[in-house]
Amino acid sequence: MTEIILDIKQLNLSFINQSGFLPILNDINFSLKKSEVFGLVGESGCGKSLTALSIMRLLPQNVLINGTISFNGKNILTIGEADMRKIRGKEIAMIFQEPMTSLNPVLTVGYQISEVIRTHEGLSKKDAYCKSIELMKAVMIPSAELRVRDYPHQMSGGMRQRVMIAMAIACKPKLLIADEPTTALDVTIQSEILALIKRIRDEMAMSMLLITHDLAIISEQTDTAAIMYTGRILEFASTEELLSNPLHPYTKGLLNSLPQQKYRKLLPIKGFVPDPKNLPKGCKFSNRCSLADLLCNEIEPKIEEKSSGHFVRCYKA
Ligand code: SF4
Repeated sequence: MTEIILDIKQLNLSFINQSGFLPILNDINFSLKKSEVFGLVGESGCGKSLTALSIMRLLPQNVLINGTISFNGKNILTIGEADMRKIRGKEIAMIFQEPMTSLNPVLTVGYQISEVIRTHEGLSKKDAYCKSIELMKAVMIPSAELRVRDYPHQMSGGMRQRVMIAMAIACKPKLLIADEPTTALDVTIQSEILALIKRIRDEMAMSMLLITHDLAIISEQTDTAAIMYTGRILEFASTEELLSNPLHPYTKGLLNSLPQQKYRKLLPIKGFVPDPKNLPKGCKFSNRCSLADLLCNEIEPKIEEKSSGHFVRCYKA
């Protein structure tokens, strides 16, 4: 049986504010096998990034979170911060959307990569610096021996993202989380970065959680994918099944809004994503769904397995 690396069960997250609790993630369940690439898709604000930050335990203080996030059998929501620091960056690493906000502008990129290596692998300064150059070569940064002394602002967006990837893979993590890793980049650079991530992932046999709003990326990069909306998973299945046989009206809408056979960036579906403070009472998609009836408007459907491995949250799927 294939080893499960990450297993998320009944994950709920709310922001605590002056008026009480604002639920943001609701009953998130999914798991990732060794070497699997799992895609989380959805429009901005649907909870994809908060799911990733929950796994990294990089959440703001004003949140209430419950459920379990088991990584290699350990519930990372209950372990101490010292143990979490050993996992974060070493066993689970993350590539963020905008490298400029993740890199320290006053430190050279070589220093920043070295710090990750020294923190987790205890190498000497000199050895860590040499390893940084090797990593920069591995992510195809030309003249790595020279560019290791660059500051982030001296690099292009694509090069900075390569530095972020070098930092993320420095300790050969078991799980790589990539949150919209190419959204801030030019189209030509996007495909280079995605190809680079794919090559490294295959070489290191890493599992990956790929967060994106772009179904083209999901189609090309993932084995399994989940569609998120208002902090819920509405549908998930193998990527092939999801894209060829979508069952949820929202997934169908996303696919229908794209040119036939070519999954491009998501276009808006009729209506708007509801405000988390004012969600519909029943199905959270009911205000945009042409099939909505009384039951849909009153009682939220549960996610159910409609065929082997294909889960959907809809009464009419
Ligand atoms: S449960 Fe009803 S409103 Fe919700 S997606 Fe299905 S048909 Fe539409």
